[in-house]
Amino acid sequence: MDRRTFLQTMPALMTGLPEPPRRSPVIDVHCHAGRGMHYGAKPDTADPWTTFNDPRWLLEQADAAGVDRCVIFPITNRTYERANEEIAEYVRRWPERFIGFAKHDPVTEAGRIERLLRREVEEFGLRGLKLHGIPTAEMLRTAAELELPVLVHPPRVAPLVEVARRWPAVNFILAHLGSFASRDWREHLAAIRAARELPNLYLETSAVVFFPYLHRAAREVPPEKLLFGSDGPLTDIRVEIHKIKLLQLPSSHEQLVLGLNAARLLKLETASR
Ligand SMILES: [Zn+2]
Repeated sequence: MDRRTFLQTMPALMTGLPEPPRRSPVIDVHCHAGRGMHYGAKPDTADPWTTFNDPRWLLEQADAAGVDRCVIFPITNRTYERANEEIAEYVRRWPERFIGFAKHDPVTEAGRIERLLRREVEEFGLRGLKLHGIPTAEMLRTAAELELPVLVHPPRVAPLVEVARRWPAVNFILAHLGSFASRDWREHLAAIRAARELPNLYLETSAVVFFPYLHRAAREVPPEKLLFGSDGPLTDIRVEIHKIKLLQLPSSHEQLVLGLNAARLLKLETASR
């Protein structure tokens, strides 16, 4: 800009200043809370994802990381009716901070999931479904009817992609960019390919340790398709959000990844705190 244009622009800038924009919401879509199948076990005798995740531990990390809201669901149990009620209790206690998803096991709870999930959504206010494994028709039918996003950590990416293709009315969020701790980098590539192709398949960023694949996802997948998640509190929210910052996305893209995409999928009000 030359000096003259600059001087002509100045008064407009001085008088016509818009309201400073409200900070857009930061939402972590992958956090675990509550009691697991080994609740009460002596320290160091059971897997930490089967004992207890104190919701206050999550809130401490979220505060330190600048995260407004966390999507929470249970840690590992054999069945999830009680654990999902516990999640609903935490959401009632911290409604500004937590959004609850139900978790269900497609095998141990087969045949009961439709009834349970409907109650968890309609009576307890949970807003999505988390599972390990491949969702069954029972889960998918219910998710479609209730318009629930389904966050999945599948054993392999390909079978989930097939399910997503057959169920276009359900939004799927594929955790860990398709491979927890980048155990198989090829799965990251399969996830990126699928998210580009299928409008109802989204990718979530937690616990990716080979950073170049996160970078690649940010480059190759439309920014509307990538969601920040931490898998906290065991995978620390402060560390996981730092990886998103390191991507150095244009700020409008970063806002989508850090919260606006989640807000849209979850049909939240986007006015931030
Ligand atoms: Zn998880």
